[in-house]
Amino acid sequence: MTKGTSSFGKRNVKTHALCRRCGRSSYHLQRQRCAACGFPSKKNTNGFREGTLAKSQKKHRNQQSSSGGASSTATVPATKS
Ligand SMILES: [Zn+2]
Repeated sequence: MTKGTSSFGKRNVKTHALCRRCGRSSYHLQRQRCAACGFPSKKNTNGFREGTLAKSQKKHRNQQSSSGGASSTATVPATKS
């Protein structure tokens, strides 16, 4: 048996089911907790609030854009002409 396609056919154990709160398939059946929204905890552990999925994704995108990119903004010493 290889580690690739042929082995994936053996994956028939469900770890995550559909979450009641966020609707994603992130509700862990053994841990009884949603990996995405933290259900059933009252606090939104991952900063997820109902109906704000698009908003949170947009925020994440903004964070990525601000943190990434050229980090070296040090001033380049002026070269003598
Ligand atoms: Zn959830």
